[in-house]
Amino acid sequence: MRCFICRTCGVQQAAASTPPERCPICEDERQYVGWQGQQWTTLEELRAEGYHSDVRPLEPDLFGIGTAPSLGIGQRALLIRGDGNVLWVCAGYLDQEAIDQVRELGGLAAISASHPHFYGCVVEWSQAFGGVPIYLPRADARWIMRRATSRARPSCTGPRALRVAEPCWSATPSRWCATAASSPSCAAIPT
Ligand SMILES: [Zn+2]
Repeated sequence: MRCFICRTCGVQQAAASTPPERCPICEDERQYVGWQGQQWTTLEELRAEGYHSDVRPLEPDLFGIGTAPSLGIGQRALLIRGDGNVLWVCAGYLDQEAIDQVRELGGLAAISASHPHFYGCVVEWSQAFGGVPIYLPRADARWIMRRATSRARPSCTGPRALRVAEPCWSATPSRWCATAASSPSCAAIPT
């Protein structure tokens, strides 16, 4: 069983023995299927092809985590350092080097993302950090392509919940970190 990643949108799917026939995210009118048709890959294949995570500081306590060369729609995560570090958005790829770098920066307390394209390989990130909780908009539950199977509790202190409101474009990291209250618009995805 492998978790295939759509090359066009960069979102990882649930474990399967063979690649899915279609990617629901790419077939939605907000995305597209590539000219070459539906194509899948895996983290292992991407590593073999030379992909790597690119972690770089952006400003104090804010780091970007992208993928080079670009994968999917070029998603880039933001790591926000605080009392409990938050990963905002996920790319479709991660590697051990990025995990080690994030550990050196204090690890993760929670993960959130606003839009299905940005779920990337979110379960991989959660599992790499002991099953930290993932908070995604309840309204987008049907677009969650991969869910973890066990229900583990957060392994560290940090934001109890992240208020997931409107698309991230206008949101600043400090706003997300500061909003640590439960919200009916949030859904904790079992990790
Ligand atoms: Zn796709």
